[in-house]
Amino acid sequence: MRDLEAELASLQTSQSLRHRRVVDSHAGSKATIGGREFLSFSSNDYLGLAGDARVVAALCEGAQRFGAGAGASHLVSGHHRVHEELEQRLAEFVGMPRALLFSSGYLANLAAVTTLADRSTEIFADRLNHASLNDAMRLTRSRFHRYPHCDLSALERALEGSRAADKLVVTDAVFSMDGDIAPLHRILALCERFDARLLVDDAHGFGVLGPGGRGSLAHFALASPRIVYMGTLGKAAGVSGAFVAGPENETELMIQRARPYIYTTASPPALAVALTRSLELIETESWRRDRLAQLSRRLIDGLRPRRWRFAPSPTAIQPLILGANHEALAVSDALADVGIIVPAIRPPTVPAGTARLRISLSAAHQEADIDQLIAALVRAEENMA
Ligand SMILES: *Cc1c(COP(=O)(O)O)cnc(C)c1O
Repeated sequence: MRDLEAELASLQTSQSLRHRRVVDSHAGSKATIGGREFLSFSSNDYLGLAGDARVVAALCEGAQRFGAGAGASHLVSGHHRVHEELEQRLAEFVGMPRALLFSSGYLANLAAVTTLADRSTEIFADRLNHASLNDAMRLTRSRFHRYPHCDLSALERALEGSRAADKLVVTDAVFSMDGDIAPLHRILALCERFDARLLVDDAHGFGVLGPGGRGSLAHFALASPRIVYMGTLGKAAGVSGAFVAGPENETELMIQRARPYIYTTASPPALAVALTRSLELIETESWRRDRLAQLSRRLIDGLRPRRWRFAPSPTAIQPLILGANHEALAVSDALADVGIIVPAIRPPTVPAGTARLRISLSAAHQEADIDQLIAALVRAEENMA
């Protein structure tokens, strides 16, 4: 038998052991943990909708009308009218013919990649893509090629050199640990030139980018029958789940073939009711995106580290790169001591030597929260020198 205790000990030695904080409540920008209140920069609730009273009321009303659970998978008897209607709204919202709901983004990516790629396919994937996309590739029988982060000449060379009968390019639209945006217009141009499909994971762009929060494709004003789009509903949308949107055949084949669609219980219909309300708020309350932009600007203008590297982004994710695991952990702990939660992100989630604080902003933050964070980081940096 493998020595699991030794594996855990080695994680401990390399400061890679992870711990779960038990959260008593997390609402807007505030978290209560162990009876103490913290200012949190750790949530992906970018628009502050998770705690919105109207979304919560819709969830309760949905549960009262439809019960606590869907009862079965979509293909058996779990596909409720509210799921069907939400799928239509989501498709319309992102400008695609059709959308399918999933209970998580992880499953949605497994479904999309395993449906779009088979043994005749070669997959081209950005090296910093989300783990779920990487896992999905390993479930296919496709060859795959991981190109350096957003290096389009490398992608071009790889596409040019490929003799595969079918090609699929897979990318995050907004990279989850850096917050930078993939040049989707240029990636799509390469897909057109080399006759490839494009799968875009917009977990962090949906609701945040583009007019009305329609996401990264709208941000670049892109539409193409080559594109399949994955958006998550547990981040900016503030609820749970995900969807894949795309052309008729691509989505229909997913219903027929995708194991992560077929062999799992549909998410509770009450979530679809809450999401329908949340989608309306995403679209109509553009002040949430304006506020996020204003808060980002304040952080970018105010944070000027000397020892560390701040890599500001045009999204809600603002990474502060500290390098060493122990330093990222020490600073995250020091911030917690003064009542601020910013998670330390370590390899293998990020490349070795780039341990960081992942600062994530939300429309629920106040300007004073940003100032408090900047002041605490200045003090923490002084103490490290
Ligand atoms: C969070 C995330 C996912 C997974 O979505 P879940 O709904 O949390 O399972 C997929 N891709 C990216 C880029 C993500 O950040």
